[in-house]
Amino acid sequence: MSLLQLSDLTKNFDGLRAVDGFSLDIPDGSLNALVGPNGCGKSTLFNLITGVLKPDAGQVIFRGREITGWPPHRIARLGIGRKFQVPAIFEEMTVRENLTVAAKRSGNRVSIDHILEQIRLADRWDLSGGELAHGQKQWLEIGLLLAQAPSLILLDEPTAGMTGAETRATADLIRTINQDQGITVLVIEHDMGFIEYLSCPLHVMSKGKILKSGSFAEIRNDAEVKALYFGNTAVPADA
Ligand code: ADP
Ligand code: MG
Repeated sequence: MSLLQLSDLTKNFDGLRAVDGFSLDIPDGSLNALVGPNGCGKSTLFNLITGVLKPDAGQVIFRGREITGWPPHRIARLGIGRKFQVPAIFEEMTVRENLTVAAKRSGNRVSIDHILEQIRLADRWDLSGGELAHGQKQWLEIGLLLAQAPSLILLDEPTAGMTGAETRATADLIRTINQDQGITVLVIEHDMGFIEYLSCPLHVMSKGKILKSGSFAEIRNDAEVKALYFGNTAVPADA
């Protein structure tokens, strides 16, 4: 069953077609990755899904219900959580307090201890957010999403600025969230090592729409994708 259906989404910025007839079906319980060169419209797509931006055309359908153009707080309340590239955590609160506040705000019953284990911060629960290393802040923000018990998580470059070991740990964390908790995940990434390690369906975006979908192996060997993406391995991370 589809959890999220995007059909023909289009968004223009002063004549620039940032998203141009984007369609994708996300099955309930699935893990999917979206890649594509800088500026191809990935973050704008997340803004359309989460209601930060209204599409000029097309539809966003969640659990069979059209939510196109709904305000962000209503969409969030449906159980769609989104992580931005820069962690939005409370620097002056402890790790545990951060999670408790997020859980309370959403009114969901979750085990804070379990989330602390998952995000690998069980032994750092009493550090303040500001004391965490960069990678740990990213994990805490994923924890804040989990505390809201979402059914769909959108991650925009969750490994930006991470070390190789942290990147791998993040891939493990995402797979656990998906497989053990059944949370549907759509992740935008630049890091191909991370994508390969995730081993999930991959969608390559170019100029606002999907160029190709397939497994990592299929995509890696595709001539069009190679020219677009793998031909330029030094793709810089988004600003
Ligand atoms: P990606 O995340 O794939 O790097 P973005 O979705 O951020 O790409 O951007 C797609 C295009 O839309 C880029 O050319 C970007 O400059 C432009 N863009 C994004 N957001 C805005 C905005 N709020 N106003 C004007 N142009 C924007
Ligand atoms: Mg982006």
